[in-house]
Amino acid sequence: MNDDSRFASVLPGTLQHALEYLEGLPEAPVGARVGLDELRTRLNRPLPKEGAEAKRVIDALVRDCRDGLTDSPGGRFFAWVIGGSVPAALAADWLTSTWDQNAGMFTVAPAAAVVEEVVGAWLLTLLRLPASASFALVTGCQMAHVTCLAAARNGVLAQQGWDVEEKGLMGAPPIRVITGDQRHGTIERAMRILGLGRSAIVDIPVAEDGQLKPEPLKEALSSNSGLPTILLLQAGDINTGSFDPFLELIPIAKDHQAWVHVDGAFGLWANASPDYRQLCAGVELADSWATDGHKWLNVPYDCGYAFVADSEAHYRSFSHRASYLNHSDEARDQVDWNPEYSRRGRGFASYAAIASLGSDGIADLVTRCCRFAKRIVVEASQIPGVEATWVPLLNQGLLRFLEPGGEAEDHDRRTERVAQRIVDSGEAYFACTSWRGMRCMRVSVCGWQTDDEAVTRTVAAIRSSLSTDETS
Ligand SMILES: *Cc1c(COP(=O)(O)O)cnc(C)c1O
Repeated sequence: MNDDSRFASVLPGTLQHALEYLEGLPEAPVGARVGLDELRTRLNRPLPKEGAEAKRVIDALVRDCRDGLTDSPGGRFFAWVIGGSVPAALAADWLTSTWDQNAGMFTVAPAAAVVEEVVGAWLLTLLRLPASASFALVTGCQMAHVTCLAAARNGVLAQQGWDVEEKGLMGAPPIRVITGDQRHGTIERAMRILGLGRSAIVDIPVAEDGQLKPEPLKEALSSNSGLPTILLLQAGDINTGSFDPFLELIPIAKDHQAWVHVDGAFGLWANASPDYRQLCAGVELADSWATDGHKWLNVPYDCGYAFVADSEAHYRSFSHRASYLNHSDEARDQVDWNPEYSRRGRGFASYAAIASLGSDGIADLVTRCCRFAKRIVVEASQIPGVEATWVPLLNQGLLRFLEPGGEAEDHDRRTERVAQRIVDSGEAYFACTSWRGMRCMRVSVCGWQTDDEAVTRTVAAIRSSLSTDETS
């Protein structure tokens, strides 16, 4: 058997498996159909001593895993900010594995390097960030935070004459990170990874509308004003989609020589749509931005993007030279901008997604998802016993199911119960979150496959799950 026939014996069947999965999505139950014990029973075989034919391995993998998959790539998954994958991006992702390029450097993987260069420039245009900003394609927004905050750490310490790359943090002036108290959990993890630590975070309570306001920010900046400072703002809160008022806040931060970093995992994509762009007004004044490709752009996992206005600080944080590597003087070597060394050519899928949608298609995708999120929340809230706790400003909303005559805890319990009933029905998938001390069912729409029919079906599922709960 030659190498060609070895691939030919497994790849065509794999295409069939993929098509069966994808074409079955509209009718399949959204949640996994088997639990932990069953999955372990199916998959946890003794370590094989002898190998098996590739096709048999893949057929068994599909058979054993299918019921344990969450159908988040389809159009009826709304629990977390999880996108699907547009066809061109999925196809490019297959080729990424097929080509198996080590995308660390131009010399090793020339096409991968140039594709990333182009993707970076396209993204800066799409997201309306400064064209001169540097960038990195990383695994997700978590690593985009790490990348941007490493550059921030370098930048704010350089201002104080401290070279953190050489001397590290021991003995360095302490850095503080000022942020709204609704920040995402990945911020804290980035701080821990970077050695800044949790206690460097100064949390400011956000206002009723979810925004960090100028007055409390000024107060926080003025106390201990000599400290190197990073201000962390949000473009798109995970529960409400709220945006901090960048136009007001960033100039205040700049007056205090603070580095401004923006968590825009999904919200930064509002800037790609003329209908929602006003939410991002002033965001381009920040120093660094983190966002995702695997959420709203609908490229497969894993894909996030980091952007840094001060490209020197970014470069100082990651650049690397080794005697056994052949660096190119003209081309962009990703290893100089990324935390990873050897890595996947993740630019291909982003390139294909952007090329297939175009900036008009991306604007439409953003606008459409926001419309569907609003439809779900508004139409569900017309059902007696359902409260629209947060009507989407963007693509995120909150619903609550009320127990007639009940207390807050009764509403919490009922909300949990009804969300679970919807999941059990297989018709749609939601999860609960805590917001202002209440349990709420989160409505998050960012998948390209969600359409009016999926929304109608979802609202019907909410209605029937609620009435089942009433009669039980
Ligand atoms: C999803 C999300 C993150 C984390 O992104 P990953 O891609 O999961 O690493 C950070 N911040 C916000 C606001 C998010 O929605």
